[in-house]
Amino acid sequence: MHALTDKVAIITGASSGIGRAAALLFARNGARVIAGARRQAELDNLVAQIRAAGGLAYSVVGDVRDESFAQRLVQRAIEQFGGLDIAFNNAGITGEMGPTPGISAAGWQEAIDTNLTSAFYGAKHQIPAMLEKGQGSIIFTSTFVGHTVGFPGVAAYAASKSGLIGLTQALAAECGPKGVRVNALLPGGTLTPMAHTMNGTPEALAQVASLHALKRLAQPDELAQAALYLASDASSFMTGAAMLVDGGMSINRT
Ligand code: NDP
Repeated sequence: MHALTDKVAIITGASSGIGRAAALLFARNGARVIAGARRQAELDNLVAQIRAAGGLAYSVVGDVRDESFAQRLVQRAIEQFGGLDIAFNNAGITGEMGPTPGISAAGWQEAIDTNLTSAFYGAKHQIPAMLEKGQGSIIFTSTFVGHTVGFPGVAAYAASKSGLIGLTQALAAECGPKGVRVNALLPGGTLTPMAHTMNGTPEALAQVASLHALKRLAQPDELAQAALYLASDASSFMTGAAMLVDGGMSINRT
């Protein structure tokens, strides 16, 4: 018996980084996975890898900015696996960065739509399916940025990601009486394509690593392990939390 035996899990942002690592880890732990993102080839590769290891997975290609994508993910979970237990709403972008007076309205909106409105769409369609089962775990990937740490040049990212924490608290209060838990995962710097986009040079990556108490960036699997904890019954009394898994970024002053 594994931590997620017979559980059905939607994971967005599964084509890369933290989401991909979580899809592989959840499947290894017995979950039946519905993997979502825009890039078909990457999802095909992931699904093949899960199946080769004896797991069960399907992909759904789409854009988290479309409400219909959230709907299709839930429909697929119900059609293929008979319901939904876990949703790791993890897809995200850094969006337009730089001094705020230079940020375009479209750049601002893209970050809000991709990082925050997507989470509302996800929850809106995931909650009814979880209520059918009388239980469930919803996880949003937020960040320390805009919550415990202020950085210049990331206004849209920080605002969209801290909005997820308000959403987490509201939904946790709303859904708790019905057995559905809602938590936010707040990673520190993690070695994924996003980290390379945000920090273009090895020197910049090393500088960010040095801001963490552990003096390194995380491997995607270390965040996947934290998501597994929030998804599983190991965290059965946890809801409404903003869980920092940030290598000490938030408390470090050296
Ligand atoms: P990656 O860039 O490796 O992965 C991002 C994922 O999001 C991809 O699978 C991408 O898939 C998907 N995605 C982006 N936009 C959309 C969209 N419009 N529709 C559907 N899918 C989309 O980044 P990470 O793994 O690092 O990021 C995962 C989450 O972790 C993000 O929410 C990020 O903000 C957060 N985070 C990351 C940190 C880090 O240091 N890496 C630190 C703190 C938080 P595709 O392009 O195929 O659509």
